[in-house]
Amino acid sequence: MTAIQDVTQRLAPRLRGRVVRPPDADYDRARAVWNGMIDRRPAFIVRCEGTSDVIEAVRFARRHGLPVAVRGGGHNVAGSATCDDGLVIDLSPMRGVHVNPAARTVRAEGGVTIGDLDHETQVFGLAVPMGVVTETGIAGLTLGGGLGWLRREYGLSCDNLISADVVTADGRVVSTDSERHRDLLWALRGGGGNFGVVTSFEFRAHPVGPQVYFANLIHPGAQARRLLRAYREWAADAPEEISAFAILWHAPADEAIPAEHHGRPVVTFAAMHSGDPAHGEAALRPLRDIGSPIADLSGPKPYLEVQRFFDEDYPAHVMRYYWKSRYLGGLPDELIDVLVELNEASPSPHSTLDVWQLGGAFARPGPQATAFGDRSAPFLLGIEANWEDPERDGACIRWARRVYDAVAPFTTGADYLNFPGLLEDHDRMVRDSFGVNLARLAELKRRYDPGNLFRLNPNIRPAPQ
Ligand SMILES: Cc1cc2nc3c(=O)[nH]c(=O)nc-3n(C[C@H](O)[C@H](O)[C@H](O)COP(=O)(O)OP(=O)(O)OC[C@H]3O[C@@H](n4cnc5c(N)ncnc54)[C@H](O)[C@@H]3O)c2cc1C
Repeated sequence: MTAIQDVTQRLAPRLRGRVVRPPDADYDRARAVWNGMIDRRPAFIVRCEGTSDVIEAVRFARRHGLPVAVRGGGHNVAGSATCDDGLVIDLSPMRGVHVNPAARTVRAEGGVTIGDLDHETQVFGLAVPMGVVTETGIAGLTLGGGLGWLRREYGLSCDNLISADVVTADGRVVSTDSERHRDLLWALRGGGGNFGVVTSFEFRAHPVGPQVYFANLIHPGAQARRLLRAYREWAADAPEEISAFAILWHAPADEAIPAEHHGRPVVTFAAMHSGDPAHGEAALRPLRDIGSPIADLSGPKPYLEVQRFFDEDYPAHVMRYYWKSRYLGGLPDELIDVLVELNEASPSPHSTLDVWQLGGAFARPGPQATAFGDRSAPFLLGIEANWEDPERDGACIRWARRVYDAVAPFTTGADYLNFPGLLEDHDRMVRDSFGVNLARLAELKRRYDPGNLFRLNPNIRPAPQ
């Protein structure tokens, strides 16, 4: 039976969701992912309404030997949630969230976004550590780690994962928690989408909000070197309730920023304190006392508003993106010089270099405690090329790669695999980033996905039989 006959006769009648394929009217909408540079044409998109649909989709792909892409929120910069000529297992209709306020736990389906999760958890004054843009899917984010405003107080998203239901490559459902299939839970904490399709995640939640204190300071680029040195010193001793960024970029034409700085290099310090806003204001004072900002937009804010702070900078579909990252062993003066120069040389005003403050709860688990690996770096550098014009693709990607290469002497060697570029040098990235955990991950890959069905990701190859 051909794949098309099988879709009509066997797959479609067994689904609660539906199969989208050319020439369906919604095919183009269903195949689009967040990064406007990605334009792939899958043969079939299974819009799953539940675990049973995921099982059917996995079995169908296996029967027909189709490449499989798994879609949570569709936000991976590499476009790994879609593929050419294969099957997309699309969990985006699966958006259920259930909070257990007494136990401080949350169950969320595989297509939930950060915004969905926040919306439900804040009703109970709770939050799960997630990323900083609310349309991002919790699935890809958690499986790759998950860094956000709560990282230094409560760790990565994956550190807060306590159980999961996974459809493995043989079409079975495996439930994992601290007692069942513990190895699989370990692997899901940072090992990416290599082990199966996660239909449901259970997280630990923490009391946060509804108000928090948020620092947002914009400084002239001319003082960038001095500012970054001061940020380095401040970051080393800052309380763990604070998670901060220093961002090198170019000022937009925003009325909060004096007009003479529009389009010019600037440095932003953005930081959230997750406790009582009055304590937060005092704790963030030393960061606000650095230099003389051209705009200080700090103040108490609803946690939900902080979570949305970056949203409008990252529109889906219309912009083009290429993001890499590197863990930094420190922030020495020579590295600061490189970052300042390369920000000034950026071919797009929308691009940014983000110095994420790490440490605190993020750093506590040892390298082998989770698949995620080594956490000793005090900073992560996010290299974000963001632009609009397809004619600028080459220049913008080259700039990001140039930054990536130029900072190499100052890194730990590992990348954050949720910012994987276009996965072009992914074997090296996987080796250097998983480090001592790679052999164990390869064994688990052999156990749960020996044929490497789930390979459109930072791929862990199964250990030989
Ligand atoms: C605007 C924006 C902001 C971001 N901000 C942050 C941030 O603050 N912190 C941070 O840590 N990261 C951040 N990221 C990176 C983000 O963590 C990754 O892009 C992540 O892959 C997004 O998850 P997704 O479900 O939306 O991805 P998708 O593109 O849907 O999936 C990416 C990959 O994850 C796997 N996957 C997805 N769903 C499942 C599932 N249900 N089961 C098994 N595997 C699955 C698959 O391998 C898939 O290829 C950001 C990304 C964007 C675009």
